[in-house]
Amino acid sequence: MILIVDDKQENLISLRSFLEHNDFEVEEASSGEEALKKVLKTVYSLIILDVQMPGMDGFEVAETVLDYSKAKDTPILFLSAVNIDKEFITRGYRAGGVDYITKPFDPDILLLKVKTFKRLFEQTNELKKVQKTLKKEIEARKELEKKKDEFISIASHELKTPLTSIRGYVQLLERLIQRKGDEELTPYIQKVSQQINKLGDLVSDLLDISKMESGKMKFDIRPFSFEDMLNNAIDNIQQVYPEYEIKRIGSVNTMYLGDEMRIEQVLINYLTNGVKYSPENKTLEVETIIEDNFLEVRVRDYGIGISQELQEQLFEKFFRVEETSHRFQGLGIGLFICQEIIERHGGKCSVESTLGEGSTFIFTLPMKTIN
Ligand code: ADP
Repeated sequence: MILIVDDKQENLISLRSFLEHNDFEVEEASSGEEALKKVLKTVYSLIILDVQMPGMDGFEVAETVLDYSKAKDTPILFLSAVNIDKEFITRGYRAGGVDYITKPFDPDILLLKVKTFKRLFEQTNELKKVQKTLKKEIEARKELEKKKDEFISIASHELKTPLTSIRGYVQLLERLIQRKGDEELTPYIQKVSQQINKLGDLVSDLLDISKMESGKMKFDIRPFSFEDMLNNAIDNIQQVYPEYEIKRIGSVNTMYLGDEMRIEQVLINYLTNGVKYSPENKTLEVETIIEDNFLEVRVRDYGIGISQELQEQLFEKFFRVEETSHRFQGLGIGLFICQEIIERHGGKCSVESTLGEGSTFIFTLPMKTIN
């Protein structure tokens, strides 16, 4: 529907018949005030406004109309017999009008403009509808995502409790077997224990991921002995994998300001990967270098290595090397979590590796030491 506004009856009649003749539906108003009343009730696809009218002139009407939520997207075409100088034309545009036609107008041009503006209005409306649907869709997806995060968080919490209990019973069994001297059973119970630890690590990783995604991963920043932390982590791995030799190169004789448990988690993750992806050569090295106010930790293995082109993706969520994924279990989230922990400490994770020769996983932290 098009609204035509003009104070002269003969203009309204000729414009209406011209537009109706071209299949447009038309309503008319003979003053600015009447036009405003109509605009409040109906959404028009175009308003054709005479500029010179007694009372409110066309510009005032346009300025008011554009404040109405119902009409803020409606194009306005100004018609004027006079006032064609630049200042008036600019005023027309400033008021939000999209075009300006001076009388006497060429009917073909007017028709073209009316058609274009009507189409523009319809397209804008269409676009708005699509936008609205998309917004709804995004909201719905966000809600689903939240439910998924909540589910992961609850599920992993629930898994933790029975796991802790199983771990306790297995330790009890281990002791009983030792006491009874039932050597035959020892390797089996060790396997059970190893698998429980793996399950425990997986559950912890899932919990960490859900904390990361919901922005709830908190850090407990305190000064700690970096060297003690390194040795703890190495002892830990050494106990679980006694067949591996873990060398320590360098030393860090400073108190470091950071989350000790989380940084140890990164180191344990690197070392566990070192063990996992080096089934043959059982040597690992943990080297520390302090340089230019940075503390670098390098965990070297002589295992399967990673080809150059895949190295950049290793720290992405769920990334695993396709060719070897059938040989080694995993979810591909360990390094992703490591990267988050190190980056949240202002540091960086990286890797140097040669396929078939081994890898060095590195994390570099800015020195924030307490003397
Ligand atoms: P996961 O080991 O559970 O798959 P990670 O995030 O710890 O997940 O590691 C991602 C991928 O990086 C692994 O699947 C593996 O392909 C590769 N990778 C990690 N550490 C090593 C390593 N020391 N040697 C060779 N490949 C490794």
